[in-house]
This record gives sequence, structure tokens and C-alpha cells, in this order.
Amino acid sequence: MSVVVELKNIHKTFGTNHVLRGVSFEVHRGQVAAIIGQSGSGKSTALRCMDRLETIDSGELNVCGHALHDPKVDLKPLRRDVGIVFQSYNLFPHLTVEQNVTLAPRAVKGMKASEAQEIAAAVLAKVGLKEKMGAYPEQLSGGQQQRVAIARSLAMEPKLMLFDEVTSALDPQLTGEVLRVMEQLAADGMTMVLVTHEMAFARNVAHQVIYMRDGKVHESGTADILRQPSTRELADFISADA
Ligand code: ADP
Ligand code: MG
Repeated sequence: MSVVVELKNIHKTFGTNHVLRGVSFEVHRGQVAAIIGQSGSGKSTALRCMDRLETIDSGELNVCGHALHDPKVDLKPLRRDVGIVFQSYNLFPHLTVEQNVTLAPRAVKGMKASEAQEIAAAVLAKVGLKEKMGAYPEQLSGGQQQRVAIARSLAMEPKLMLFDEVTSALDPQLTGEVLRVMEQLAADGMTMVLVTHEMAFARNVAHQVIYMRDGKVHESGTADILRQPSTRELADFISADA
């Protein structure tokens, strides 16, 4: 199985705050890895390093064949290969759904308008919003806007998708519609790394669960670790959620 993401003993410090303290794990092609853990444990920082939104202090970090520990790494191909979606969707309010989705393929990939429109139609169909192509973000619910944000990433045809608590700002019903889109993406074979508080989703969809604590991987394994944790800390974390 080919390795899409490889972290080897990653360290990251903000000032005097040693946030990542030797993080190592791998994600294989077509697999879904869920990162869980208390607030402040370094989950977002780890994810942001994978898209080079943060640089690491030491260790080795390979993403889609790009060596991100190399200060001279070319970020353009990395940004093409990796899509990232955050809790806040940040759609352009003055652009339609279709324009939001076609923007990056046109600007970054130099795609022709007609080709970008075809891709937009396909990815919006995938997230169940084909009929909203002409709508503006403010006319959509939060769940719909988040699905547009996912479609916008998919339009770049990424090899890896990163999700950072994409449902945290949504109420339960809207959360469900976004999780279903992510579940379908996983079923289609997309390689995904997601930071999530949705334990049921992690249990049902993730091939690999990574429990972070104090900047380290405290326990990891298949989703079975959510049913039968081996460490007291993970057991407490799960029962606090229940
Ligand atoms: P999590 O996503 O698990 O809640 P984060 O990775 O966001 O954790 O944060 C881990 C620690 O790093 C926290 O103490 C946070 O305050 C700190 N941190 C995160 N980003 C920055 C930043 N850009 N500058 C300074 N400190 C940061
Ligand atoms: Mg976070």
C-alpha cells in the first residue's frame, strides 16, 4: 500500500510552547485517518503542517511525495495535491456557488471556463448541491455552505483531503448532511485526514484513529480502539464524550 502521508518524529514549537512533541504516523492511499483528542493537544497544528500552513521544527514530513521538511520544497504542486477544509467555510460572499468553485481551477490550474464549469457541476452534484450553482453563499444554510467549501476543494482534484472540525459550527441536522458527504468521499476512495469530535463518525468511517494528548500520539490503531481503548486516558476521553 502506498503511503500518502508520513510523519516521522515531528516537533513544532510556538515561542516557548512545545506543541508537537515527536508525532509519528502514516496514512495510506484510500484510507481515512481520524485525529481525536482534547482541545489544545496539537491536532490542528499537526493537520496544518500537512499543508505547510505551519512549518515543522524537526522531523520528517512527506505528503503526496513532497518532502515538507525541506525548506526549499515547492509549495505549488503541494497545494494542488492537497485540499483543506476548516470549520469556517470562508466562501466569497459576492460570488455565486459556481464561481466560488471554479475560481481555483481557473486561477491555479489555468483551466478554461467551460472545463471548470463541467468540473464544478460534477463536484456540486457529488455534495448534493447541483441545483444551487447560481445561489450566493448567504442564501444557503451553514451545512450547504460547508458542502460548497468541500466541493471547492474537490474541484482541484486533490489526492488528499484534510478536514479540521468541519462540523463544529453546525447544528446536529446540518452536521449529518456534511458527514454523509464525507462518508461518500471515503467510500469513493479519497485519502482523508480529519480532526473530529464526531466519535460515531470516527468509529464508523475511519480506518485509523489517532488519539493525541499533550502534543504526542498517546494511542492509535483501528477504530476498535474507540470500543476497547488500551490506555486509561483514551477511555476517559471517550466516556467524557458519551
Ligand atoms: P487542537 O487543535 O488540538 O485544539 P492546536 O493545534 O490548535 O490544538 O493548538 C495546540 C497549541 O498550540 C495550543 O496551546 C495553541 O494555543 C498553540 N497554537 C496553535 N496555533 C498557534 C499559533 N499560530 N501561534 C501560537 N500558538 C499557537
Ligand atoms: Mg483544533
